[in-house]
Amino acid sequence: MPAARGVPSFPPESFLSDIYQFSRGTAPLLVSIPHLGSLIPDSQRAQMTPVGLQSGDTDWHLDTLYRFVEAMGASVIGARYSRYVVDLNRPPNDESLYPGQTKTGLCPAQTFRGDALYLNEGILTDAERTHRLQTYWQPYHAKLCEELDRIKAEHGTVLLWEAHSIASVLPRLFDGKLPDLNIGTSDGAACAPDILAAVEDRLRDCSDYTWAVNGRFKGGYITRHYGAPADNIHAIQLEMCQSTYMDETHPYGYRADLAEKVIPVVEGLVQAALRQASARQR
Ligand SMILES: [Zn+2]
Repeated sequence: MPAARGVPSFPPESFLSDIYQFSRGTAPLLVSIPHLGSLIPDSQRAQMTPVGLQSGDTDWHLDTLYRFVEAMGASVIGARYSRYVVDLNRPPNDESLYPGQTKTGLCPAQTFRGDALYLNEGILTDAERTHRLQTYWQPYHAKLCEELDRIKAEHGTVLLWEAHSIASVLPRLFDGKLPDLNIGTSDGAACAPDILAAVEDRLRDCSDYTWAVNGRFKGGYITRHYGAPADNIHAIQLEMCQSTYMDETHPYGYRADLAEKVIPVVEGLVQAALRQASARQR
């Protein structure tokens, strides 16, 4: 007998693996935070520069910022290891997401600002990349896939919300200051038009923050790979400026005074998308 709507057919689950933190919700919503982690394994630490050890390009504090999704019934997966180990939001073959622009690759050798991560880049052998893919990349994607499948089976539809944040000024990657809120759906390929339209309506109502849709950031590998609107899997990436909720320089402190203003805006965006996606439930 199928489970009644809103009643989970799986028991609630919440755990910390070595690779990711995960909690299972009851709504057709999965929030993925692939750059949340800042851990670096000891074997790699020994090879890194002081700036590399800071893991400065982490999407800091997004588990705190997105705490509101728990009340919405979301499942949440967040990485524990740094993108300096392996970038979970890059394709395993390391193809460029933005051809012609400076690439931040699968196993980066530099920070976003161009500083060296390693004392000797020779550490990044093919064998090392393969090891990192198998040890850190694969388990995150296996869990992400499993949860998308579970939600799809239970609800008939899934909203995959890719949660990201980045320093607002990075001359090596983009000109000037990035808009505060950057929505990416792979130019519309990753989610149904009405879901994106609902998000855009919310953005138009918001006068306190600048925003862009499918501008410099169109969604990374996860948005592009898993977003399949014809199959009712709708993926949206939000890349937000870290200046909206934290200090952008070391030690990257959380700024509750700023966060309390932006959280309701982000919550409104997720709610608008979830409402549209939920209308597709069986
Ligand atoms: Zn990110």
